[in-house]
Amino acid sequence: MEDYYEILGVSKDASKEEIKKAYKKLAKKYHPDINKSPDAEEKFKKINEAAAVLLDENKRKNYDRFGSNFENTGFGYDFSNFDFEDLFNNIFGFDFNFKEKRKAEDIKVNLEVTLKELYYNEEVSFNIEKNEVCELCKGKGAEKEEDIIVCNTCKGTGKIRFVKKTIFGSFVSESYCKDCNGKGKIIVKACKKCKGKGIIKKNKKIKLKLKGSYEDKDIIRIVGEGEPGVNIPNGDLYVILNVKKEKDMHKKGLDLHYNVKIPFYKMILGGEEKISLFDKKISFKVPENSQHDDVLKIKGLGFSDNNIRGNLYLKLKVDLNIDNKKKKELKKIFS
Ligand SMILES: [Zn+2]
Ligand SMILES: [Zn+2]
Repeated sequence: MEDYYEILGVSKDASKEEIKKAYKKLAKKYHPDINKSPDAEEKFKKINEAAAVLLDENKRKNYDRFGSNFENTGFGYDFSNFDFEDLFNNIFGFDFNFKEKRKAEDIKVNLEVTLKELYYNEEVSFNIEKNEVCELCKGKGAEKEEDIIVCNTCKGTGKIRFVKKTIFGSFVSESYCKDCNGKGKIIVKACKKCKGKGIIKKNKKIKLKLKGSYEDKDIIRIVGEGEPGVNIPNGDLYVILNVKKEKDMHKKGLDLHYNVKIPFYKMILGGEEKISLFDKKISFKVPENSQHDDVLKIKGLGFSDNNIRGNLYLKLKVDLNIDNKKKKELKKIFS
């Protein structure tokens, strides 16, 4: 059993106000809509459980008395049907209208990139389909001001207050006005371009400057390029990278590993060798008596991120093919 006082960071004799204050602070911090860390939701749940017990006089008394046996006494509470949203709204009331602080929806897209694009830190572009604020009505949903009237149900507040019965007793709660969707206004003549939605689906070209440090399955966040927010911040765009596999190459951090074929006689005798690395031609020295799978390190020719460059590692693979002329010469030597 969890220590509810510890979860909220309050002392055992904390007042209701102190508990509320602590809860508000933590709930804002760990609300899954704000906090994207993987354990935020679990923490948020625990904070709510703790507040649900400690803010209720009877529950708190029982919890203090029976402590860890709280749940086995018959006084314990099964949270599975508990309306935490109600608790949340009730405690936050009017001074923190959480839903208005939300941002618009995020968008996720998959993007295939090549090692070459990463190597040259290229700027890639791709299209996403997303909502854009309608140009004709500027997102208002109606072309003219007089086509928008104040909602009669909520008198323009967008909120409806009502009494809600919960396990804690009756509370004055509030929800969004369904007649105007919480906007407080109703459109009587819709904009002909967006049909009153204020937004239209559009293709948008997104540009992304790649970094050499990007890896397969990396998720790149582009702030504000998600769905547009009307009176709330835009959502974000999350680009999930799929790095295309290459036959003889792979990246490891900023290092590039490259299998290169070397004629067998050059492996034995040593000598200069040329390879192409994307758009570059690179020459390097094969040492005398090289072995199959020997690795040569070439400093600074790996991937780059800002001013940091990785290395190029060449794995030497013996190539036994030679032309007929060389073959004849070899025959002479070994016959
Ligand atoms: Zn419009
Ligand atoms: Zn309304």
